[in-house]
Amino acid sequence: MSAPSTTVTTSTTCRSCNAATGGAQFCPTCGKIQPLPRGADYFAFFGMPQKLVVDLAALEQRFHSLSWKLHPDRFARASEDERQLSLDLTSQLNDAYRTLRDPVARVEYLLSLSGMRKEGQKKQQAPPELLEEVFELNESLDELRETRATGGSAAQMTGLRAKLESAQHKFESALAGVDQELAGVSAEWDAALDASADESARNKLMERMNEVLNRRSYIRNLVNGVRQELAET
Ligand SMILES: [Zn+2]
Repeated sequence: MSAPSTTVTTSTTCRSCNAATGGAQFCPTCGKIQPLPRGADYFAFFGMPQKLVVDLAALEQRFHSLSWKLHPDRFARASEDERQLSLDLTSQLNDAYRTLRDPVARVEYLLSLSGMRKEGQKKQQAPPELLEEVFELNESLDELRETRATGGSAAQMTGLRAKLESAQHKFESALAGVDQELAGVSAEWDAALDASADESARNKLMERMNEVLNRRSYIRNLVNGVRQELAET
């Protein structure tokens, strides 16, 4: 999270009464709004550990509560500085919530915090278990475009559509499989944190997550491509 312009402090003591704030948005002693400590991330914003299995109902509740407490309307008569802080923190709150409520964006974000998100040169390569399906799909797509361009018969088009729809289902189920895999690694990550796993173990898990994300993005592009082609047919 980039530091808002008004945030120059690196301490976690209240700007107003000097009491310890623990990095919270409001001083627990005097209740004044506080800038986020430098380097605070989205997880810290919600007072959460950097874990990947998230109780969405609790997250939503915290979001609504913070939204209300930080709302700029509540700072209409506050100092210019506090008004600006409420705007900055509200905007960061919205970004943080959007990211953390989505299981894929959440993993992407965790990896980006450690510089472990790497799109990779293999992005354009089909995952080995899908090679054959991808090959067939490309053939069907070529055939479809050619048939469309040369004005093929209705029966031909119907046959090709059916082929593409079946490919679409295959890739959608592959995508669901990858999402399950991501949920599995996410749970492993949380268990590793609970067990105070060392850096090398954590890095290995992050590399696996990165690989799953790359595979996911490849398959999602295929699904979207087929969907678009079918919509045009
Ligand atoms: Zn205070």
